[in-house]
Amino acid sequence: MNHLSLNSPLRFHPHLKALVWGGRGLGESLNKLLPTEADYGESWEISDHDSHSSVVAHGHPFAGWTLRDLMQRIPDALLGAPRERFPWLVKFLDAHDWLSVQVHPDDRAVTQLWPGEGGKTEAWFILDARPGSRVYAGLMPGVDERTLRAALATGRVADCLHSFEPKAGDCLFLPAGTVHAVGGGILMAEVQQTSDATFRLFDWNRVDANGKSRELHIDKALACIDWDAGPVSPVRVPGYPAGEVGSTALVRCRYFDLDYHHFRESHTLNTGSVLWIALVLHGRGHYDADIVRHDLAVGDTLLFPASIGPVPLVPDGALGVLTASLPQ
Ligand SMILES: [Zn+2]
Repeated sequence: MNHLSLNSPLRFHPHLKALVWGGRGLGESLNKLLPTEADYGESWEISDHDSHSSVVAHGHPFAGWTLRDLMQRIPDALLGAPRERFPWLVKFLDAHDWLSVQVHPDDRAVTQLWPGEGGKTEAWFILDARPGSRVYAGLMPGVDERTLRAALATGRVADCLHSFEPKAGDCLFLPAGTVHAVGGGILMAEVQQTSDATFRLFDWNRVDANGKSRELHIDKALACIDWDAGPVSPVRVPGYPAGEVGSTALVRCRYFDLDYHHFRESHTLNTGSVLWIALVLHGRGHYDADIVRHDLAVGDTLLFPASIGPVPLVPDGALGVLTASLPQ
């Protein structure tokens, strides 16, 4: 198989998850084909997690391969440098209802708290936010373990958290150890380390139809919290989604660089021999690969393997694209 080379961007079948807090927004706003009438919370766009390996939909001659297959057979062409794990899990989320207040472990804490999983630093890019929706991100200044435990006992955890009403075009960087929650009608893209390690701290005093509440993991959650981190504020893309032509740097961290690009003329994102991922968030356009024209629409996710040459994206009017790349 080593004679196979990667010549075009790869596109994967989305993996859609029906979840109690989800809605229909992934279909209505992001063109995902929702398989049933249920509410859907997540579309896993690119995943090498043990629970789901993405399957290539387009990208000659790899259609039908999983990302795990590519990682095992052509890791250098894919990544540019060997790695045990694909670096990111990329999703769209429809937080129609409220997600629990939660926290994720970092690379070190996870080895104790959830052996076999990875640390989980993540970033959110808000695509749409209904009035009254809210993001909770980080502890209010001065909140320590004693304050938070007292708030847990009285069901008033929200008082301990920094919060704001998000706007489309906000990007939030949530390092592992940051307490967070989101809900009330928020559609977003998420780029995170390949991990599903989540500890639920508080579930808004909710019970299901049978009067049962969901399981919490309070001690493990408290063990992950970075008590010094404090409130998290968003970085905003000016004029999102249609604003000025140009690029906005959103996140720089050891796991990923995130940028938003808005352009009206043919534009090449994948410069240099590094892995790139692009999520189309605004407008439409196309690219040419393998002598075929491929259309681009909102909700499309592309993976540019490190080994391929520049592939210009051509807007039909304008294109707005969120990119993740490996830090240089
Ligand atoms: Zn999270």
